[in-house]
Amino acid sequence: MRVLLRVLASGAVVASAIWWIAAVWDFEHPQVAPSLLTNTTTMLAAVLLGLLVLLLGGLVLLLGQERRYSAIALALSGLLSAAGPIWVVGDTFTSLNDWDFANRTFLTAYLPAVAFLMDRELPQTDHVPHFVIHHADPVPAWEVADLERQWQRLSRLTGSEPRNGIVLYLNDTGADALGIGHHGAAYGPLVIALPLTLVDPCSGGSLHEIAHAFMYVQSKGNTFPQLLDEGWAVANQGCPEHTLDQQVLADIESGLMPPLEDRLTDAGFRAARYGGANTGYDAGGSFVSWLLTRYGAARFMSFINSATVASFQTRAHVVYGAPLASLEATWLSHIAREFGMRALAFTSDRNP
Ligand SMILES: [Zn+2]
Repeated sequence: MRVLLRVLASGAVVASAIWWIAAVWDFEHPQVAPSLLTNTTTMLAAVLLGLLVLLLGGLVLLLGQERRYSAIALALSGLLSAAGPIWVVGDTFTSLNDWDFANRTFLTAYLPAVAFLMDRELPQTDHVPHFVIHHADPVPAWEVADLERQWQRLSRLTGSEPRNGIVLYLNDTGADALGIGHHGAAYGPLVIALPLTLVDPCSGGSLHEIAHAFMYVQSKGNTFPQLLDEGWAVANQGCPEHTLDQQVLADIESGLMPPLEDRLTDAGFRAARYGGANTGYDAGGSFVSWLLTRYGAARFMSFINSATVASFQTRAHVVYGAPLASLEATWLSHIAREFGMRALAFTSDRNP
């Protein structure tokens, strides 16, 4: 019995360790889809073996057949092996999100330590209907009003909202150096961002990150291309559509605006030959803003909830009733008209 228990416990610990390593790696690479081997199989093995070890260890302890401490240690190792994966599965169901998002919110379980450090940097806390705001300097009433207005807008647009509100760390002291996010990050209901008082709405800030948070709650999968993810956040950060379009025009004139299908993968989004991620944000922001204005939010939700990098073109056709190339052409001619130009063309590799 003791040997069996040890073998099972070792299996549970190994499965759990592999699962943890994969989970942390996935956290750093959110655009990569979870794998059946390293995520699902190890999760199942860790949970099943862990619970079995917990049960058997408890049984052994009750029957008094083994040395008590060894049985307790084995039972605890089973419990610990199963705890992480069970937490993520539970989080997946309660947030109605996919594994990868649950993984991201789960890993912010290391947040209590970071939050403690941040709270020392950001000692003031405001509670408003949908936000708990941690900050260093007093938040002006207009900014709080803007946050609430953003909540109402996004709730209307997406038809859903972060269930328990948003915990917002207004990073006005450089607390981003603590490791979560850089100049703003969003993990489900947690947002770390620069206050509106410190940024131009066309450069991001809290409204941008809150838009991400709504998308992560709303989305049925973290499989949509980054172009749409960032496009949605840029389109909803309070920057006028005209300014977003102007940015795309400037990128076209600089030869930095390839067709959207070239920017769907993570590498494409950041491609240095097109000016890096900056022009990816420009393209996404203007395109999504145009889609929202022209076709409405409901269709965009259906698009983003079904489009992957691979199915982007097919889903665009199904949801918007036109091939992607013709959507892109209409978007560009809208920008051309807006700025009194005859026609605009994407940057091509042959003719940069
Ligand atoms: Zn963003």
